[in-house]
Amino acid sequence: MKPSLPIPVAVLGATGTVGQRFIALLDKHPWFKVVALVSSEKNVGKHYAEAVHWLLPSPIPDWAREMGLKSAEPKAIDGAVIAFSALPSDVARELEPKLAERGIWVCSNASAFRREPDVPILLPEVNAEHIAVLDEQKRRRGWQGGIVTNSNCTSSGLTVALKALDEAFGLQKVFVVSMQAVSGAGYPGVASLDILGNVVPYIGGEEAKVEWEPRKMLGKVEDGGIRLADFVVSAHANRVSVVDGHLVVASLAMRNPPKNAEEAIAAMENYMPPVIARHLPSTPSPVILVRREPDRPQPRLDATTGDGMTTVVGRVRPDPIWDLKFVVVSHNTIRGAAGGAIYNAELLVSQML
Ligand code: NAP
Repeated sequence: MKPSLPIPVAVLGATGTVGQRFIALLDKHPWFKVVALVSSEKNVGKHYAEAVHWLLPSPIPDWAREMGLKSAEPKAIDGAVIAFSALPSDVARELEPKLAERGIWVCSNASAFRREPDVPILLPEVNAEHIAVLDEQKRRRGWQGGIVTNSNCTSSGLTVALKALDEAFGLQKVFVVSMQAVSGAGYPGVASLDILGNVVPYIGGEEAKVEWEPRKMLGKVEDGGIRLADFVVSAHANRVSVVDGHLVVASLAMRNPPKNAEEAIAAMENYMPPVIARHLPSTPSPVILVRREPDRPQPRLDATTGDGMTTVVGRVRPDPIWDLKFVVVSHNTIRGAAGGAIYNAELLVSQML
């Protein structure tokens, strides 16, 4: 039996960069009502407005201001059906399984369980059918609830574009260079003296994630797990002096390359999400927007397209070494984090609960 609306949810890591996005996006969400907020011990017991260093242009919603912060333990969020996790990975690794065991559905931004074969990395507009592995997760682990994850914030928009092109032309090799916003590092994140007027050509652990997670997301459900897609990815990850919105430049080799850029643009513009993910409250509209101007997309101008859920592509053109190259921008704390996790939860509610 489906839970009645609104569905009670908790936000873990509610004071952080992603946590704040959750609070803003869950304000007036048609299905979800926040009943618990979790922070680190130093803030437990404080009111949310007192503890948070609020970074968003919209005000803190009234319902959140006076909510008391709770500690990261399962009983703190009793009563929640879904837990949105924006915890550091080491904390998530400890807490998330305990919640799943108690029947809570955890929609996590943390990387802790992404590599587990029975834990999907969901992008509903790409691989909604991957929720099928949750049956194996329940069976193997004996959980009443479960864990679903979203990818690292660089892979999400990139993988939406790759999905449309893979379906049409078959991917073989993907070479990407990321230019990642500072909000991707959390708060306070990268020191201003390191990043202002600068590019830092290293983000710990990121390249390995970008080289692996798109292959899982574009893989096939098989024997209760996910068989990785058989293309290869090479990634260079860079931190740049941008607040929000990751920009990735990509070159692709394909099995049946498009005859020209227009054919590739048409594949992306006509891309349709799986039927079960098409009409949820957070379904991006459009899923992919292809800009024709020579100097777009740009993070500052394009990351908030479609309320931050749309993948924005541009500069689609032939690649003289391989077949095709293009630029993609997506909002790291919305499509790449809080907005993506909420879309995952909507998919779970519509299919599983
Ligand atoms: P952040 O700004 O550093 O926030 C971390 C949050 O976790 C804060 O609310 C913090 O609470 C809480 N926390 C820290 N230690 C804790 C503990 N021991 N117990 C309970 N809560 C604890 O980080 P973020 O950027 O929001 O990232 C959160 C997670 O999402 C990370 O796993 C990150 O890798 C992932 N992610 C981030 C992005 C992005 O664009 N930023 C995108 C995708 C995924 P206090 O304020 O009380 O310290």
